Amino acid sequence: MTKPISLGLVGLGTIARNQHLPSLADTPALELTAIASRNASLDGVLCFQDIHAMLEGSDIAAVSLCTPPQGRFEQAVATIEAGRHLMLEKPPGATVSEVQALARLAEAKGVTLFATWHSREAAAVEKAREMLSDAVITSVKISWREDVRHWHPGQEWIWQPGGLGVFDPGINALSILTRIMPDPVHVHAAMLEVPSNKQAPIGAELEMRSAKGAPVHAVFDWRQTGPQTWDIEVETETGTITLRDGGATLHQGDTCLIAAQDEEYRRLYKRFGELIAAGQSEVDLAPMQLVADAFLLADKRDTDPFHD
Ligand code: NAP
Repeated sequence: MTKPISLGLVGLGTIARNQHLPSLADTPALELTAIASRNASLDGVLCFQDIHAMLEGSDIAAVSLCTPPQGRFEQAVATIEAGRHLMLEKPPGATVSEVQALARLAEAKGVTLFATWHSREAAAVEKAREMLSDAVITSVKISWREDVRHWHPGQEWIWQPGGLGVFDPGINALSILTRIMPDPVHVHAAMLEVPSNKQAPIGAELEMRSAKGAPVHAVFDWRQTGPQTWDIEVETETGTITLRDGGATLHQGDTCLIAAQDEEYRRLYKRFGELIAAGQSEVDLAPMQLVADAFLLADKRDTDPFHD
């Protein structure tokens, strides 16, 4: 059996604890041997205060960054410059151009760069892509509504420039959209609602269009209490295909075709191992470009102040 690739994880926050640690434990190709955290330590692995100490003080071959997007560029550059393979949480950075720079740097250094989109790994996404590959799509509706107080309590970075606000979950919908649509989509109008005491939107509405002319309408809202909604409904000339629960379930008309368990992060780490073994990178900026374009075109409206 080949030796697992030793990996260091940076930023022991919500997603690292809930998804990365258990998924890494289930991935034979990778072994967590170090962490870098400003506050936390973890039994059984080397613990460092920051990424620089981790890169210098351990022989890890790969790094997974679970920190907020702002500040991730410097961590990513340090990792690649140190000749280590790199996996990025979504969104892969604070700007499109910084991730393009990382992709070039990784190529020059001959290391793997994997910009992940965990929602693309949801159980029903590939089946939806296959079903839509030769369909005539007439319209798409995205409804991504959740309660920010439940999912992001006390996360200040998410409201700062580069934190994306409601696009932090919204970009997950766009990552699925850009995977399942057979032709490219572009933004032609956007409205952002920004709390008067914050820098990032709490609500957004996007008007997009596919290259073949199908309208794509998206609503992202962080003020939904009660049942949460993560739906993408695609109308085609032969019927409706609906992804619900963030891509975990798939309906054709009223018939449920797929309803499966969440394996998103296990699939991401398996893929990271495969990319490293194959000497390849995977960086698709299409979801992030749509978000950047929405900010470029935004009709920005002030709304009520937000308090956690
Ligand atoms: P979080 O709970 O705030 O954790 C981020 C961690 O990064 C912190 O705990 C901290 O870890 C480290 N960190 C380093 N510099 C920081 C800074 N300036 N401000 C705050 N934290 C800093 O965030 P998260 O929800 O895990 O999100 C991290 C990334 O994962 C984001 O890109 C997010 O979009 C993505 N993500 C989140 C979720 C989710 O449901 N929460 C789901 C999918 C993807 P140390 O104290 O250990 O240094």
